Amino acid sequence: MVNMGKPKVVILGAGFGGLTAARAAAKFAQVTLIDRHNFQTFLPLLYQVSTAGLAADHVAYPIRGALRKTNVEFRMGVPKQINASSNELILDSGDCISYDHLVIAMGSTTADFGIPGVTKFAFGMKTVGEALAIRSRVMRAYESMCNPGSAEKFEIAIVGGGPTGVEMAGAFAELIRGPLKSDFAAAAQRIHVSIIEGGPRLVPSFSASLSARTQRDLEKLGVTVRTATAVKEVNENSIQTSAGEFIPANITIWAAGVKGVNEMEELNLPVLKGRIQVEETLQVTGYENIWAIGDIAGAIGSDGNMLPMVAPVAMQQGRFFAKQVKARTAGLSLKAFKYTDKGSMATIGRHKAIVEVKGIRIAGPIAWLAWLWLHLFYILGGRNKIGTMADWTWNYLTFDRGNRHIMDSF
Ligand SMILES: Cc1cc2nc3c(=O)[nH]c(=O)nc-3n(C[C@H](O)[C@H](O)[C@H](O)COP(=O)(O)OP(=O)(O)OC[C@H]3O[C@@H](n4cnc5c(N)ncnc54)[C@H](O)[C@@H]3O)c2cc1C
Repeated sequence: MVNMGKPKVVILGAGFGGLTAARAAAKFAQVTLIDRHNFQTFLPLLYQVSTAGLAADHVAYPIRGALRKTNVEFRMGVPKQINASSNELILDSGDCISYDHLVIAMGSTTADFGIPGVTKFAFGMKTVGEALAIRSRVMRAYESMCNPGSAEKFEIAIVGGGPTGVEMAGAFAELIRGPLKSDFAAAAQRIHVSIIEGGPRLVPSFSASLSARTQRDLEKLGVTVRTATAVKEVNENSIQTSAGEFIPANITIWAAGVKGVNEMEELNLPVLKGRIQVEETLQVTGYENIWAIGDIAGAIGSDGNMLPMVAPVAMQQGRFFAKQVKARTAGLSLKAFKYTDKGSMATIGRHKAIVEVKGIRIAGPIAWLAWLWLHLFYILGGRNKIGTMADWTWNYLTFDRGNRHIMDSF
């Protein structure tokens, strides 16, 4: 259906930013949303899939379902070329889609910072497939350790002490001390978790007191915390540090950083420090009608640094983009994007979390409850909310984790 007179908006990527932009722009524009998957991944809970706390389908929501009450058209596909002079986008299917405004919202991918072995041996944490692969690797090792006479040890090394790494480390420690110990204690006690951070403290975006609390909480769960430890190389069963030490690592999980997806280079867009270069209006530098939002966009914050790669930035930019196009269509001038930081939170385990909002710092059970409710609120779809609540309630009441399956073999 062609909407005469409405601007034609094409959005690449149906994540936090793209989906928000599509819903907001659909009120006044003809919108096409394109993604390589037919579902949106709720990345903040991906680590719970890896650690058997949540079923994979609870963090994935069908994009068509999310768009049902809108006029947004969805296309599954991958962009191959942008013809900016004719306002056309070519997809991997060969289809050519014309646009008045094109939005790049394809998110980020694991950044290896050129460190040898990361791509080959470490597991990233960006897709449901990666989360399931991590779970299978750990559970398969555990099954082998349960065999009679086994004295094998298994070292889980998480690189990166930001919220993702910390949440992952705490969740693995609880999986080992809880369900795996109940199933076969002798095997569980031979699994060990360590977290490696290059900077002087964990969760550096939080205050020093909450960092210290996080480290204490993780250590209480049996996690070895190594700060000020730079990784030089990742091998199959170890990590070499810059100081020349070898840390045992039968699985390395890379939570040390992300950069814009590689397609930004393939599409010949301007890239600066691993993200698309944008103006303060969110227009891609050098283009009037190509925009970038979310993780892939290198928008600069009030402190002069690039904005953090977090969901609230992507969602606020999605809504802001829609307002910009509406203004442009009405002949009004564009504005500069300003991010409103509503605070940060991370959970370490049962009753253990940290929250920092405008200088207010909370740790412990209240922070943990706030974390649970906020994540439940933002998960898309009633089925996923109910499923997540059911898994969490079961885990809480029984100290069990029902998603310990190895599902990568046929
Ligand atoms: C493990 C993990 C935990 C996180 N936890 C938190 C948290 O607790 N709180 C928080 O605020 N933020 C968290 N984040 C960050 C947050 O998820 C991102 O900042 C947010 O998803 C960015 O939104 P986006 O729209 O830019 O990208 P995304 O939400 O990643 O969406 C990008 C979309 O683009 C699609 N895409 C990518 N490449 C292509 C292609 N070539 N062709 C077609 N489609 C493509 C993808 O399939 C995806 O649907 C976490 C991230 C990770 C990885």
